Amino acid sequence: MRRKILAGNWKMHGLTVDLQEINEISKFSKSCETEIILFPPITLVSKISSSITESSLKLGAQNCHFNQAGAHTGEISAKMLTDIGLTHVILGHSERRTAHLETNEILREKIKAAWENDLTTIVCVGESAETAKNGLTDVFIQDQLTKTLPNHIKINRLIIAYEPIWAIGTGEVPSLKQIKKTHDLIRNLIKNNYGSLAANSIRIIYGGSLNQDNSKDIFSLPNVDGGLVGGASLTHTSFIPIISLLEMQPN
Ligand code: PEP
Repeated sequence: MRRKILAGNWKMHGLTVDLQEINEISKFSKSCETEIILFPPITLVSKISSSITESSLKLGAQNCHFNQAGAHTGEISAKMLTDIGLTHVILGHSERRTAHLETNEILREKIKAAWENDLTTIVCVGESAETAKNGLTDVFIQDQLTKTLPNHIKINRLIIAYEPIWAIGTGEVPSLKQIKKTHDLIRNLIKNNYGSLAANSIRIIYGGSLNQDNSKDIFSLPNVDGGLVGGASLTHTSFIPIISLLEMQPN
C-alpha cells in the first residue's frame, strides 16, 4: 500500500505575511492520512519550523547542490537542508532544468547527494508541448527518467512527479487517458529497471495546473498516488480542498 502524498511547491513566492496560510494548512494536516509536504522558499523555513511543531506537515527545499560544501556562491547543499530539519527536496523541476541548465547527469549527482543526506527526493520529469504534439511523450519520459535516476535507487527515498511542462502554470491539463498512460509507463519502467518491490513502493504523483475542479478525477487514476501543486498551494483556501479530494480516495 502506498500512502497518498500532496506536495505544495511555493517556488519564489512567500513573505512573512504569508505564514498564516501555512499555519492554516498545518492545522488542517493534523487530521489527514495523506502525507503533506510544503516546499516554501528557504527564507521562511526557520519561522515555519517554529510555528508548526505539533503538526504532521513536512517541509522540503526546491533544490540542492551535489557537493556537501565548498566554493559555490549562492548554493545550498543537501547536508545543510538536513541540518535545518528539512526532510524532502524537489529535483529536476522543469523550471530548473530550463532556466538553470540542469541536465539529467547533474540531476543524478544531486539525487545521490540528497539520498546520502537522507532527504526524500521528488524527481520531476515531463515533456514539452512540442514533444507531446509530435506523439513522443513516451519515448521522452522513458529516456529522461532512465538518464536522471541513479543505477542504484533508494526505494523509500524516491517519489516521481510527472509534470508535463506545457501544463505547469497554464491551466491546461492532459486528458485522463494521457495521464494514466504516462503514469503506467513510469511504473512499468521502474519495474523493468529496479524490480517489483520498487515498482509497488514508489509513489508517482501528477503535477501541472492541479486545482479543486480537476484533481478528483486525476487522483482516482490507479497509478496516481497524489499531486505536486504550484499556484494552488499558495493559499489555504485553494490548497485544502485539493488535500480533501485526495483524502477521499481509497488507498
Ligand atoms: C509546479 O510548478 O510544479 C506546478 C505543478 O505548478 P502549477 O500547479 O502552478 O501548474
